[in-house]
Amino acid sequence: MKRKGEFLLGIDLEDVRDLASNGDRMKERVPVMTRRLLTLLRSLGVRITFFVTGQLAERYKNILQEIQSEGHEIACHTFWHKPLSHYTQIEFEDDLKRNLAALSAAGAQSARGFRAPVLSMTPRTTWAYSILARNGITYSSSVLPGANPLFGWPDFGENPKVMNGVLEIPVSVSHGLGMRLPFASGVYFRALPFTIIKHQFRHFASRGTPIVAYIHLLDLDKDQERFPLPPAIRNPFYSFLMFYNRGGALKRLRTLLAMTNVRISTYGEFHARHIAVDCRRTTA
Ligand SMILES: [Zn+2]
Repeated sequence: MKRKGEFLLGIDLEDVRDLASNGDRMKERVPVMTRRLLTLLRSLGVRITFFVTGQLAERYKNILQEIQSEGHEIACHTFWHKPLSHYTQIEFEDDLKRNLAALSAAGAQSARGFRAPVLSMTPRTTWAYSILARNGITYSSSVLPGANPLFGWPDFGENPKVMNGVLEIPVSVSHGLGMRLPFASGVYFRALPFTIIKHQFRHFASRGTPIVAYIHLLDLDKDQERFPLPPAIRNPFYSFLMFYNRGGALKRLRTLLAMTNVRISTYGEFHARHIAVDCRRTTA
């Protein structure tokens, strides 16, 4: 079958213990869950992109080496995992350099991709693109082109766009549901009915548009302990969603990764192809 669609799966690799206020009392989950995911990816013969925090890279050099030894791409997810609006420009550049150094020390010397924590790239933080560019970052996937209780940039549009020298590859949002939801990502990936997600995959594949998604280890981990949510989303509805269907998400992922009409690419591969097509257009 001709593969018309494309699935860019990004794992946002962070240690929830670094982010939760009760993190020091939580169980270690990164090694077991990363290896479980690697086993799945190996069984399907697919390679994807891991956006990794500097804190995690320093703590788990061996895990990063295992990921790379299986041919997956490593990219940046900041060192401290703060939304972009919480950094000054100087702080952000320091953080990015430290993130790159931590990845490099774990064997990933050529990280070229970036994802802002919580998809926090908005019109107020576009200054970050020139900082990314001068530190060797060539693509970012940091925009949610829809409304969201935390961050979102509805007017960005759904297509990749070069921003101050960096190709921004926005996360995919649903069509025809009345709301633009990142159907293949995070909590939406777990909580939306699976028939809707599969329908969206078929729809994107038929248009030949890539499905760009983020997943966290905790989205796949039924044994992940609960932790207090950020104040902006601390209410019973989000508390329910945050822990809903963690047991079923890995199975969903297996089904989607195995769809025969959708090819799986790393973000780096997508970026290289996108730039090549752009060059052909400008030189034609
Ligand atoms: Zn994150």
